[in-house]
Amino acid sequence: MTNTEPDTARIGATVLGYPRIGPRRELKRALERYWSGRIDLAELREVATGLRADSWRELAAARLDSVPSNTFSYYDQVLDAAVLFDAIPDRFRALGLSDVDTYFAMARGSGTAQPLEMTKWFDTNYHYLVPELGPGTEFRLVGDKPVAEFREAEALGVRTRPVLVGPVSFLLLAKPDEFAPADFRTLDLLDGLVERYAELLAQLAEAGAEWVQLDEPAFVGDRTEAELGALRRAYDQLAELTNRPKLVVASYFGDLGAALPVLADTAVEAIAVDLVSAPDTADRIASLGGMRAKTVLAGVVDGRNVWRTDLRAALSKCATLLGSVAEVSVSTSCSLLHVPYDLDAETALEPAVANRLAFAKQKVAEVALLADALAGGQRDALWAADNAMASTGGATDERVRARIAALRPEDAKRVDYEERAIAQRAQLGLPSFATTTIGSFPQTAEIRQARADLRADRIDESEYRERMRAEVARVIRLQEELGLDVLVHGEPERNDMVQYFAELLDGFAATEHGWVQSYGSRCVRPPILHGDVSRPAAMTVEWSGYAQSLTTKPVKGMLTGPVTILAWSFVRDDQPLADTARQVALALRDEVSDLEAAGIGVIQVDEPALRELLPLRARDRAEYLEWAVESFRLATAGAAEGTQIHTHLCYSEFGDVIEAIDGLDADVTTIEAARSKMEVLEDLRAIGFRRGVGPGVYDIHSPLVPDEASMAELLRLAADAVPAERLWANPDCGLKTRGYPEVEPALRHMVGAAKAARA
Ligand code: GLN
Ligand code: ZN
Repeated sequence: MTNTEPDTARIGATVLGYPRIGPRRELKRALERYWSGRIDLAELREVATGLRADSWRELAAARLDSVPSNTFSYYDQVLDAAVLFDAIPDRFRALGLSDVDTYFAMARGSGTAQPLEMTKWFDTNYHYLVPELGPGTEFRLVGDKPVAEFREAEALGVRTRPVLVGPVSFLLLAKPDEFAPADFRTLDLLDGLVERYAELLAQLAEAGAEWVQLDEPAFVGDRTEAELGALRRAYDQLAELTNRPKLVVASYFGDLGAALPVLADTAVEAIAVDLVSAPDTADRIASLGGMRAKTVLAGVVDGRNVWRTDLRAALSKCATLLGSVAEVSVSTSCSLLHVPYDLDAETALEPAVANRLAFAKQKVAEVALLADALAGGQRDALWAADNAMASTGGATDERVRARIAALRPEDAKRVDYEERAIAQRAQLGLPSFATTTIGSFPQTAEIRQARADLRADRIDESEYRERMRAEVARVIRLQEELGLDVLVHGEPERNDMVQYFAELLDGFAATEHGWVQSYGSRCVRPPILHGDVSRPAAMTVEWSGYAQSLTTKPVKGMLTGPVTILAWSFVRDDQPLADTARQVALALRDEVSDLEAAGIGVIQVDEPALRELLPLRARDRAEYLEWAVESFRLATAGAAEGTQIHTHLCYSEFGDVIEAIDGLDADVTTIEAARSKMEVLEDLRAIGFRRGVGPGVYDIHSPLVPDEASMAELLRLAADAVPAERLWANPDCGLKTRGYPEVEPALRHMVGAAKAARA
């Protein structure tokens, strides 16, 4: 990775990875057509080949001296590694499918073969597939994807650096399969796996690869001595090989901590560090003798957020490394997989906002510019780019600032729960095992059609609203007929639980093409939170108020909480997240108050992403949880004591946040629990949780309709941990992805189960 040779270190330019879904989501469409049988494998391959070629050419043309390959995937890079090394559970082999279809079966399931579990890729919104390993797993190098893609790029005249998940992180990201004994650790398989990596490295060397990148992001989290020892052993063994390319061990999303000196002492040639999330790493590198002979990939361009780089600061960060290492390669902090392709595709963004943004293509240009400047050339271009950005900042709203400055601790505090409970009982008069749902009802074809019609101008805003009101009325009637106790309006008007609010709040912008891969063929288009946030007008009152006008039962207002709004957006990085969360919280606080004024006595503030933003290292968690909890309380604590505040959490194991859930001080917490058989209740009981709780009794992720007996059984289990008068009966999560033929009977059974539990 070298393009010039100044006095001290050599200089290079690269990125750790690139988006792959296609600038127009070409891969998504091709995959979905292949899965539904509308195109054959040859056509799918053609799309994939074209996308790879475009990325390599673009990166080579951008003057990167090292271009990554094998960052393409039909579904997920961890799945790719599992299949490459033959870690295919028997239930997929038994299907007798072709290689490609076995791969897709592992990703998506097939017949009775449940897919691999999918889980979050560290603290990003990308999801990877969790390999299943056991003592019987025998790794074999059966695939050739990294070699084939290297050759494919060579044929186009681009010499690439194949990228793979490293062996230690691969094992740490995997889980024991269902047959593994309790004392089995996936790391037990390390030696066998390292041998297979060695084979692969030999093949890549023979194919002509000079460098290979092995990603070890697992080491930015807290790791045991044994795990650090495994890292040392793996890279000592790999470095010792004679027939291999040079190795980059890549880290991202945090600091390597104790793993940095471990890697520095191995003979690998290069280490990639994330200097955006862990800027101090530069100083630590300077103090490690083991780094002197190495190349450092200096991740100064943020690979997971959309803001332009402060080029002056990035340049000086890189410069501090010059004297202490052999080569500095300017790089991104992580793969660019997590940002959209190209800002130039956006035509509707306000210039003041667009001017502060950089997507993948623009970030590559920043890397190249920085490398040039670091090598002593082209600084004019750099200063010009930097000055253009420096002239604009996140828009400030003095009213918002003043309001935040005037906040007092009591603004985040309601009266005691016991008092609230009395007021709420008087006001709502609900039975024990009160029945409710999480908010959304099925998003039917008609609802989606209405949204499409509105976008295409086939109907106007008022016609759209009419159709949504008709839907609300239908959902209310259905719930009354089913006999639910606390009703919802069904959320038909919401495209997405964050985007809906982002569109109505000031301080957010939406993109047209800013898609990023969430998993497989699924993409999301996160809103961009760029300035101070405020609420120009009520956002949900019209819908909830209308729903309430149709029934004498309480209708639950439905809001998305501040943490979740931040977690699913690209958020400004020019102030602490805690400050931004407070602004969002105040906007929601006003909405709560407007809902109350419209006669809504139950209000749910969803925080499904509470666990998602939890920092990777334990030492950073308390601070995060403090502001996360505070922002929720700020959003809800303005409510009268008779107003019942609900929250809803899902998508995770709650062990790490159980005290924070208590800290939210919601009157009722509905929480995912059906699949884990009410486990979370034990955790809640252990910390003395004493407010209302609705452990999900209906697993909405499955198309199966649960019968009354199974839900009654779950409620009985729940009643062992929580007194019945504080228990609610509800599904695990929103119903929007389900269909009415499943939802209707399931809810009917749920109401029946609650009645049985009461009796
Ligand atoms: N109220 C939302 C819904 O019902 C909650 C979604 C979620 O938990 N992710 O869809
Ligand atoms: Zn949920």
